[in-house]
Amino acid sequence: MPLDLKQKALENFLRYVKIDTQANPKSDETPSSKKQFDLANILVKELNALGLSDVSIDDNCYVMATLPTATGKSSPAVGFIAHMDTAPDASGANVKPQIYENYQGQDLDYPGDSSLKLTVAENPELKTCIGHTIVTTDGTTLLGADDKAGIAAIMTMLEYFKENPNAPHPTIKICFTPDEEIGRGTKFFDIEKFGADFAYTIDGSLPGEINKETFSADSATVTIKGKNIHPGSAKNIMVNSMRALSEVIAKLPQNMAPETTEGYEPFIHPHELSGTVEESSCLMLFRGFDDETLVKEKEILEGIITEVKARYPNAEFELKVEPSYRNMKEGCLKVPQVLDILEEAAKEAGANPYWAPIRGGTDGSGLTAKGLPCPNIYHGGSNFHSRTEWLSADFLAMTVQTLINMAKLIN
Ligand SMILES: [Zn+2]
Repeated sequence: MPLDLKQKALENFLRYVKIDTQANPKSDETPSSKKQFDLANILVKELNALGLSDVSIDDNCYVMATLPTATGKSSPAVGFIAHMDTAPDASGANVKPQIYENYQGQDLDYPGDSSLKLTVAENPELKTCIGHTIVTTDGTTLLGADDKAGIAAIMTMLEYFKENPNAPHPTIKICFTPDEEIGRGTKFFDIEKFGADFAYTIDGSLPGEINKETFSADSATVTIKGKNIHPGSAKNIMVNSMRALSEVIAKLPQNMAPETTEGYEPFIHPHELSGTVEESSCLMLFRGFDDETLVKEKEILEGIITEVKARYPNAEFELKVEPSYRNMKEGCLKVPQVLDILEEAAKEAGANPYWAPIRGGTDGSGLTAKGLPCPNIYHGGSNFHSRTEWLSADFLAMTVQTLINMAKLIN
């Protein structure tokens, strides 16, 4: 019997989401949580069982493997990448997937939290899933489709090639990374060892969204030093750094906030705040799609600081800006065939592909910056980092088919 891609991919997916791999942003180690090895070690076993070559896992929890070309043709080596960790925003422990076969467009309840509902009104994409198998959480955890659906898609593609030894494919390089959710997925990624000529992350959302652009990102920290004294005798002496900082935040442009922007619109986002009378600081995120936008955002913040400083002459203001990641567009456009292959394979899989900018970063932005072009592919999940995360197993199967088609096109 031929491999049932949907059933196999769903089985793989359900096995992986039950393993807790939540990343820990407070740790400086890699992986940030030891439990990411629990999934990594299982994947190593499965890759070995599938007969892949060079299966390895390193101390930082990067899993790599090679499926040598079936035809012996000297086509380029393609890489497929997915991340093993889940976001710190919601628990990833004891995930209890709820499966709805032949979904009919209804709102869905959660057995673990009756106050929560997955509604079609808030998730209009569910209307494209009539007849699909939908997987949700029980309402108490995230699902982990981000990015275990990516891992399941890759593993199912490998199973397909094992079952179909005559199906054409080039040399395929696999990597499963730790800590993508806390922005460190490519920190110890050994591109040379990986050995791919170009690669794709399977870390998107619903088909047919495909991505060759991400945000460019800087982190800005505003620190203000004031002057503390007993409030009973503070007149004309106290300088309250929290008041000064709140004025800075209040002056940030309202039309440049995450909550008021979409598409290609940039934002400045106050992300973390701490303070006492003596000293306060705020971490702000600069986001845009090119370097010029980030420079402009810095100028806006500098202008605001100058204004507020005039009102607080006895406070000290400091602004520190550090780069986070860069848009992968430029690196991807240098190799248009890498984009064409993806678009064609998605079309053949029936995914109606369209290019959309990602309002965030991916492992691909880091890898593209280091010289490995790496666009991003859907995997069939939605509502990431939340207890309402869900997946369509049919869209997951479409993803597997897309990867198989890509391998055929590259070969
Ligand atoms: Zn992800």
